[in-house]
Amino acid sequence: MRVHPSPPEADVVTLHESVPPDAFDVERVRRDFPILARPVRGKKLVYLDSAATTQKPRQVVEAMARYFDQENANVHRGVHFLSERATEAYEGARERVRKFLNARHASEIVFVRGTTEALNLVAFTFGRLRVGVGDEVLLTAMEHHSNIVPWQMLCADRGAKLVVAPIDDRGVLLLDELEKRIGPRTKLLGVTHVSNALGTVNPLKQIVALAHARGVPVVVDGAQGAPHVPADVRDLDCDFYAFSGHKIYGPTGIGVLYGKAEHLEAMPPWQGGGDMILSVSFEKTTYNRVPYKFEAGTPNMAGAIGLGAALDWLEALPREAAWAHEDELLAYGTEALSRIRGLRLVGTAPGKAAVLSFVFEDIHPHDIGTVLDREGVAIRTGHHCAQPLMQRLGIAATARASLGIYNTRGEIDALVAGLEKVRRMFA
Ligand code: PMP
Repeated sequence: MRVHPSPPEADVVTLHESVPPDAFDVERVRRDFPILARPVRGKKLVYLDSAATTQKPRQVVEAMARYFDQENANVHRGVHFLSERATEAYEGARERVRKFLNARHASEIVFVRGTTEALNLVAFTFGRLRVGVGDEVLLTAMEHHSNIVPWQMLCADRGAKLVVAPIDDRGVLLLDELEKRIGPRTKLLGVTHVSNALGTVNPLKQIVALAHARGVPVVVDGAQGAPHVPADVRDLDCDFYAFSGHKIYGPTGIGVLYGKAEHLEAMPPWQGGGDMILSVSFEKTTYNRVPYKFEAGTPNMAGAIGLGAALDWLEALPREAAWAHEDELLAYGTEALSRIRGLRLVGTAPGKAAVLSFVFEDIHPHDIGTVLDREGVAIRTGHHCAQPLMQRLGIAATARASLGIYNTRGEIDALVAGLEKVRRMFA
């Protein structure tokens, strides 16, 4: 079983200190990603945008192609051979995800389109059950829009209020302030595992314990957590955990909502249609058991199979060493960027994961991104779907280099060289 960091306080230390980084062969990993070998604008591609979406190893593409070539049929309803095979493969992927998250039951794994859909599902079902007039939904200042807007919609619908726990200037969540905001009207806490804009890793175990001590369930946005830090839902004891396939080396259009069985059982369905029912008449419909109650219509079988293959691929690597590789690269990048005059890192929480967000002189982040692109270096610029966070930090946007398991020191060097070009052009 993976070791989960259980930090005594907000300052999480690096997870993987004891593992020699050389136990991880990054060049071998890179060979699984043909796209990393393609040139871009006549230059070698340096892909530093994995927080937006990761590249996919050929094993994932092959698993999906194999499914379409050999097993494609609709699931659950058929009696024929291919339908049985497709159902086995789809349910096998669910079990694969269960194992990855260390959930107790495969029925606690709901396949959805992605993190956004997972969080909307919780807001529109669990949220509607729990939140009424005058109640409060507690979030943190570093949430992605997809862990803000569904709650805002719920609050508007219910006459409830959003309450926000603040962060400090480094991007560390202020736990005492969070605790102060948990009151008798708090019906739910939504928190990101890892911030996509800052890289802050929140001390989830501690947060969940704080919330549970006051009877408040916790919904975790794991979009950036699952790919980069251990996500053991039983260890965390969170009530819900959401993540997206495409950010963890799997395909787009598939994601996961983990929910504790007792919650999923109590929640009403949110979309109606085929597969989520046991029987339908014009007078009355009885719903299927979980998780099918939440999977109306033909699911994304190929996506689920691709995600299962991605998790197989990822967990076949020496995981501790892979995490150590990412940590080491982040430390290398932090140091390298810190040495660039006029560059300021945004998000300097201790124990960060995978994200180097920065502003550079007063150069517009889009200009930075455009010049880097000409050098083959792909980064993201903008507000990173975290506008309230940008407002809190007093900036409109950042440039963000984000790391995946396949990145190298050489690629960080290429980023630094590109930034020197940016300076020459704009500063
Ligand atoms: N939360 C975080 C922290 C994210 O980084 C993202 C994707 N940028 C999302 C939620 C939404 O994920 P998706 O677009 O895959 O639904």
